[in-house]
Amino acid sequence: MENIENVIDKVDETSLAHSFYDACSDKVFKDYIDGLNIEESILMKYTSSLQDAFLECKNCKKCKGLDTCKNENKGYVYTPNKMKNTINFSYDACEYEKERIKSDAYKDNLDLFEMPLDIQNATFKDLYKGSRSRIPILNYCKEFMTKYLKGERVKGIYLTGSFGSGKTYLIAALFNELAKKDIKSVSVYFPDFLTSLKSSFNTNFGERINYIKKVPLLLLDDIGAENCSNWSRDEILGPILQYRMDNHLPTFFTSNLTLEELESALSITSSGVDKVKARRIIERIKQLTETLELISESRRD
Ligand code: ADP
Ligand code: MG
Repeated sequence: MENIENVIDKVDETSLAHSFYDACSDKVFKDYIDGLNIEESILMKYTSSLQDAFLECKNCKKCKGLDTCKNENKGYVYTPNKMKNTINFSYDACEYEKERIKSDAYKDNLDLFEMPLDIQNATFKDLYKGSRSRIPILNYCKEFMTKYLKGERVKGIYLTGSFGSGKTYLIAALFNELAKKDIKSVSVYFPDFLTSLKSSFNTNFGERINYIKKVPLLLLDDIGAENCSNWSRDEILGPILQYRMDNHLPTFFTSNLTLEELESALSITSSGVDKVKARRIIERIKQLTETLELISESRRD
């Protein structure tokens, strides 16, 4: 008499074969299965997963882009892969997703601290639609890129202008363009950066300062909006600027204040008034940058 386990195995196989051949009555599914080049005896064990994979593959054929993706994981397609005598299923990036990953690779060269994430998408193309007052700034950015990429020394920008005029966006567009040429940059929202540095005294304070000092391109965003103290001016800002000046590392600033206004802001701290120390900072900024002004209506909602 036949062993009961063998009988159960045979019944299972028959039912697997049954649902497999049933699924194969759909000609398009059958074509898909044939295209996999896997033996039927293996395929049969995975009918339900193969049907899922087939549906996802079918969605992809009609798909026009990531926005209209119908698959379970947006941009990914459930795919069968033959391993010895089994099939392993994985989620593979579709062509649109692969393109997106490739075109976003430059973002790895951008380090943003407390900055709005959407500035990673700022481009010069958008900027040209703006007012004519941007032209001298855009020309300088172009000159900066050409010279920097040739390895020539070139100053950063002290970009002053009213709140919301698009200063941060403009420098971001420049950094993004350079990131696409594999140049690394750090952009820090300066007031918040100072606050967070203070709380990192016992951890990675030195490491962070060194990182900011040495990065190829640096933006100190919204300088002058911080609560200036002797510490932030003389122990943080001063040494960072001195190091970058000595090593010809381009440094950018945006500010609602003109350099003269920044000088007054930096001279007054809760410890008193120190015009000499403020002057020293301004001299370093002047060494490091061209001053340019952005005149524009606020672009903020
Ligand atoms: P600022 O730094 O001068 O205060 P922002 O650069 O933050 O101004 O710009 C204000 C708002 O306008 C932001 O939301 C920014 O994303 C948007 N913005 C600025 N310039 C442009 C531009 N050229 N195209 C599209 N959006 C812009
Ligand atoms: Mg800004």
